[in-house]
Amino acid sequence: MAKIIDKSEHYQIIVDRFLERGVKLEDIAEITYDLQKKYISQLTLELCLEHVKKVLMKREVQHAALTGLELDRLAEENLLSEPLQSMLLNDYSLYGIDEIMALSIVNVYGSIGFTNFGYVDKMKYGIIKKLDEEGKKTGKCYTFIDDIIGAISAAAASSLAHRFA
Ligand code: MG
Repeated sequence: MAKIIDKSEHYQIIVDRFLERGVKLEDIAEITYDLQKKYISQLTLELCLEHVKKVLMKREVQHAALTGLELDRLAEENLLSEPLQSMLLNDYSLYGIDEIMALSIVNVYGSIGFTNFGYVDKMKYGIIKKLDEEGKKTGKCYTFIDDIIGAISAAAASSLAHRFA
């Protein structure tokens, strides 16, 4: 039977998979910073990064991230069957499971998480915008990762909001 590893090992695997896709935790923390800077005067990027890391240590978050990152990779390597293969590779607009899955991340922090995620999803800034543009130009699949990044940054923003409330 395959082994089930612990939370810190999962954390490291996710950090590495993000890096393989050109995403650093600092990029995610930057979105969190933009979301919270007007509400928390003493906010720093470092503090945001701390909360991003904290979010990534949560089991529900790890499971959603692992699943989404894997589906993007499989689609990019043409390993899925149709019709899912084309839907994911082309980021088909009526396919909304990427967003639904991201909600399981923001859900960890209650309703403020949902509000923040909706905002990030609409604004598409920072690393999310970069991936979005790259996905359209190259045959890369960033269907799940953009929502995962948005959700983690929103969850970290909510975690900060709770702490400074
Ligand atoms: Mg998406």
